[in-house]
Amino acid sequence: MAILPIAKLGNPILRQTAAEVDPREIRTYDLQQFIDNLLETMLDEPGIGLAAPQVSRSIQLVVMGCEGEDGFPKTVLINPKIIFYGPQLVESWEGCLSVDGLRGKVTRPSVVRVQALDRYGKSMDFEATGLYAVCIQHEMDHLIGKLFLDRMTDMTTLTQLHEFGRYWQQDPIPAI
Ligand code: ZN
Repeated sequence: MAILPIAKLGNPILRQTAAEVDPREIRTYDLQQFIDNLLETMLDEPGIGLAAPQVSRSIQLVVMGCEGEDGFPKTVLINPKIIFYGPQLVESWEGCLSVDGLRGKVTRPSVVRVQALDRYGKSMDFEATGLYAVCIQHEMDHLIGKLFLDRMTDMTTLTQLHEFGRYWQQDPIPAI
């Protein structure tokens, strides 16, 4: 396995629309190894989510996982689609492995229903809430060239990490 370099804000690949993965390619050695490398890179950063375009491969594949009380299971989504957004909106802090040292508040639907293929090409259909729902929406934004900065409605909450701990809250916000 290998740690992959992360594309940072300003790299045009972060602004592209990612290509669909051919389901016949999912079980190839190349793609399976890429998924393992993506997971390893996410854990190494550390982060709780990582999308393929963030490591300069513009395909519709994202990984995520978060241990702990508000956590969620390790998840690999290929060609994901959100087929339902819950009516409630929730505001939460977000950070991004491609946007060093910044956090900002983003408002998103609190519940999403997702259809995707898993890492073995099997169909998934599930509902996510809380941090899981935020992470899914953030990662799927990477597949259409969007960053959390584009989703912020109140830019006055944009803050650097040091100031975040000093003025906003002590608990760190994981990057995704
Ligand atoms: Zn991100």
